[in-house]
Amino acid sequence: MAVLAVVALCCALGVSGASPEQQLTIYATQATYSLPVLDRGGKAYVSVADLLSPLGSSQPVTKGKDWRISFNKTDLRLTEGKDKGTINKQVVDLGGKVLLENGHFMVPIDAVLPLLGRLLNTTIDYHQAARRVFIGNTFTRFTTEYKNGDVPSLVLNFSQPVTRLDTNRDEDRGALFTHTNKTTLMFRKDPLVSDLKTQQFSDGAIQSLAFSEENGAAIITVTGNKHLQIIRSDDGKTITLQPQALDVSTAPIPAQPSAPLAEGQRHAPEFFVMIDPSHGGNDKGATFSGRLMEKEITLRLAREVRKELEERGIAARLLRESDIDLSLDRRAEITNEQRAGIYVVLHAGRPGKGVRVYTPLLPDAQQTQAGRFLSWESAQSSSLTRSQNVAHVVSEELKKRGLTVATMGVPLRPLNNIVAPAIGVELAPDENDLQSLESQKRQNNVATAIALGIVQVRNQTGARP
Ligand SMILES: [Zn+2]
Repeated sequence: MAVLAVVALCCALGVSGASPEQQLTIYATQATYSLPVLDRGGKAYVSVADLLSPLGSSQPVTKGKDWRISFNKTDLRLTEGKDKGTINKQVVDLGGKVLLENGHFMVPIDAVLPLLGRLLNTTIDYHQAARRVFIGNTFTRFTTEYKNGDVPSLVLNFSQPVTRLDTNRDEDRGALFTHTNKTTLMFRKDPLVSDLKTQQFSDGAIQSLAFSEENGAAIITVTGNKHLQIIRSDDGKTITLQPQALDVSTAPIPAQPSAPLAEGQRHAPEFFVMIDPSHGGNDKGATFSGRLMEKEITLRLAREVRKELEERGIAARLLRESDIDLSLDRRAEITNEQRAGIYVVLHAGRPGKGVRVYTPLLPDAQQTQAGRFLSWESAQSSSLTRSQNVAHVVSEELKKRGLTVATMGVPLRPLNNIVAPAIGVELAPDENDLQSLESQKRQNNVATAIALGIVQVRNQTGARP
């Protein structure tokens, strides 16, 4: 019996763990944020400090069962166990009792609108069923443009830039899920609204679009009979959906020269880019001002590069997704075993400025061994010219984006152990400003340049760059 009880408990936990967290999202000019909604005795609750502090309230003051916060000159007081609070001594009905849990004062979600309404002197729109609160007329809207033809496409034009779509759920940004006949774009950070509920286009690859809102997010679902590629423009104001097998060079990507599609590319074996966020685990890499660590910067940048590649229809994998130790040999082994099309290792933080792009440097004797049985130390020799080409194209893209670039051959491990074309990219702080290593804009710039370079190489030579 005891055993059975344990099994039953595990299953119950498994099921509840799998259900998505309930969220409330607030869109305001000063901040956009989501907070968890918790079920307490069948009633939905939120932490009142989590709700108000991003909007600029004072630090809450707690005295026993009493809680107080101020907002400009407005004073909110709550008491644990009471279903009413006061704002400047006027009574506010909270729709349920105030709870105190681990130092957090919680109010029913029904109190969100009356509280915000009285504390903020502005328009508030509450999409109650979807748990989305819009403060001060901050909305993003969109229009659709369906283009029929050999390769149909659906262009979504947004009134303001939308968040980068992201498959990484931790980052609580826009998310995308693609299936053969359904593509879902989820916008959590964008105040996206629409009067449009559904729209019909054709009976082919792109059939219809539906807009909905739920759980603190807006969702655009496109249905069709093909797997769709999702391309977000660099300014974030356009998302284009089109069937996957398309030549990437005709996609509307700014600053990308179009190149003819090489024969064989359409049916190329699964080409993917292996991205190596160098260091990890006990190997912190370079550390800066005791806080910033290279291993973190490289991982963040690696995710960025993957996203940029995927948005352009090129598959990418990371050698590590988390803070783990991985030897240089192991990194090369995995890359070779999985038959990566291109390998890119990322570093950050050497002294100097700008970006360095590294190509492998083989000892002379080994450069001439191409075609013979390759030793581990010269696995790279047959791809060296192609590595140099990738490095050249990526450098040009970096320069186009205003970055200082130096390209050089270096004996940087594990480049020599990689069979595929391999390069290294190292970021330096901008003008010795350490914070610039963390700059999101700069990382985006570098990631975009790497992706655009790889797209070009793919177009130049087809499946095998
Ligand atoms: Zn490094």
